[in-house]
Amino acid sequence: MKNAHWQQDLQQLRHARLFHNVTAGSLQQLLEEFRAFELEAGEILLSPFNRNQHLYVLLEGEMKVYLGSLDNQPVSTLHCGDCAGEISFIDNDHPSAYVVATQPSLVLRLHRASLVRLFEQSPELMQNLLELLCERVRQGNRIILDSEQSANLDTLTGCFNRRWLEHVYQRESTRCAFNGQPLCMLMLDVDHFKAYNDQHGHLAGDYALCLVAHTLRNQLRPKDSMVRYGGEEFVILLPEIGVDEARSIGERLRLSLEQVSSFYSPMGILPGVTASIGLAQLQPKDGLESLIARADAALYKAKQQGRNRLFG
Ligand code: GH3
Ligand code: MG
Ligand code: MG
Repeated sequence: MKNAHWQQDLQQLRHARLFHNVTAGSLQQLLEEFRAFELEAGEILLSPFNRNQHLYVLLEGEMKVYLGSLDNQPVSTLHCGDCAGEISFIDNDHPSAYVVATQPSLVLRLHRASLVRLFEQSPELMQNLLELLCERVRQGNRIILDSEQSANLDTLTGCFNRRWLEHVYQRESTRCAFNGQPLCMLMLDVDHFKAYNDQHGHLAGDYALCLVAHTLRNQLRPKDSMVRYGGEEFVILLPEIGVDEARSIGERLRLSLEQVSSFYSPMGILPGVTASIGLAQLQPKDGLESLIARADAALYKAKQQGRNRLFG
């Protein structure tokens, strides 16, 4: 980062969030506290490894913000008028993110020693800074929520994954036991899927798995959970459903797949698939593992009896 000569341009600063509503007179005064610097493309402005004592306002160029590692996808892009470093500027700690210039950039820099003086001079600036901080907190919360949700999802099919199954099983088994309600599990495995892959290719197999997920999920209630348990195996948890009703739900699901003899995919028309299903009802002594083991044993029977059928 190099010192830069910057011709004060109040018009340019009008676009900066930090200076929003700050009068021209105070802005002129405030600017005495700032220094201008230029960065090359690729230069790191902030890093969690280096303590930061400055607030930056981006005047020209563009920067990206990375959490955790520079190898991750950027979480946001900073444009002219945006600020960087405001959190560590205030709490005098290490930055929580990397900020990297993606183009040759020009920044104004303010040392934290000037903070109190600035607040005295301009309450508007303080309000702007607080608003920026609130935005960062909300953005952080959104990122936490997104990553929490995607950690529970299978990326290919959009079904829940095993991590979610453990969580939802604890919740639903407790709730059903408390209310004296039954809970059933369907374990579903696509038939002859190795042959399907061999014949049509692995990508076609992927589309077929998406078809299975889409076809079945659309028939379930919001409180049911459909989980991709393994490669071509799915588990469906049916709270408040006894074994007879679960059998007819499973039959209906099986039939709905059987009826899709072909489907459209980005590769063109592909043949449908069938599935075998094992059914088990939660018993008082059960845990998740034993319930899965019984559903799996029932699935094995369905396969033995010729596939494309339900057992249990
Ligand atoms: P069965 O009727 O007895 O279940 O036979 P199967 O061929 O379906 O069972 P097997 O366990 O022999 O083969 C499962 C196949 O599923 C093999 C594997 O390559 C495929 N598979 C697992 N995960 C995926 C995936 O994500 N995408 C694709 N395309 N195939 C997958
Ligand atoms: Mg299998
Ligand atoms: Mg299979």
